[in-house]
Amino acid sequence: MRIDVVTIFRDYLTPLDLSLVGKARKAGLLDLRVHDLRDWTSDRHRTVDDTPFGGGAGMVMRPDVWGLALDELLDDDAHLLVPTPSGEPFTQRTAEALAGEQHLVLACGRYEGIDARVAEHYRSRVRVTEYSIGDYVLNGGEVAALVVVEAVARLLPGVVGNPESLVEESHGAAGLLEYPVYTKPPEWAGLEVPDVLLSGHHARVARWRRDEALARTSQRRPDLVAALDVAELDKHDLAT
Ligand code: SAM
Repeated sequence: MRIDVVTIFRDYLTPLDLSLVGKARKAGLLDLRVHDLRDWTSDRHRTVDDTPFGGGAGMVMRPDVWGLALDELLDDDAHLLVPTPSGEPFTQRTAEALAGEQHLVLACGRYEGIDARVAEHYRSRVRVTEYSIGDYVLNGGEVAALVVVEAVARLLPGVVGNPESLVEESHGAAGLLEYPVYTKPPEWAGLEVPDVLLSGHHARVARWRRDEALARTSQRRPDLVAALDVAELDKHDLAT
């Protein structure tokens, strides 16, 4: 997969050299390129923004500069992703769908955002998704780009060492949050690991994990429980 990120703060994306994403890049599993939007400016001040038409506070990113950058980076297979608090929610389902694509281009806004004509213009050429990573406002799209790259990259084949670890995660196919996890020592700060996890009895461990996942999801995210497909629940689930 190729991912291009366009930003005015390239250094914000340096964490993508680290950990699993950094390794995936080195191994050639992910071709990730970070670009400075100002490289497409032509004035002495490398200007990327201007005052908003209609007045009001703040500055808006100019469509002409974005146009030069995106004309160069978007090929026919590309999917343009524009982070914005007014976009559709970015979820694990979004990450799964994007992990099957060839080429993502992320346009990181700053100030009051990018001139609305940019998304409108490129919709006639490529797929464009304006997405939000949550109901709050950040200073810029870079953190949202980090979220997307990490959530998508870890789903690419070979990036996570043991693909089994992706199976029972929160927000997976079961639609539940993950059960609590424990490691050594078996007793710490007066707290003991649940006996069943030390029993070596795989079926009982699986049942306990399922029950805990359901209980935790009911308590913390009743909206996810309400969205569960009842046909996927077994008798024991329904009694939980
Ligand atoms: N004026 C905009 C509004 O009220 O919707 C907020 C602009 S915000 C200060 C600047 C940039 O941060 C946005 O263009 C976007 O790239 C990014 N951003 C902020 N919050 C975000 C969120 N929740 N999800 C995705 N991107 C976000």
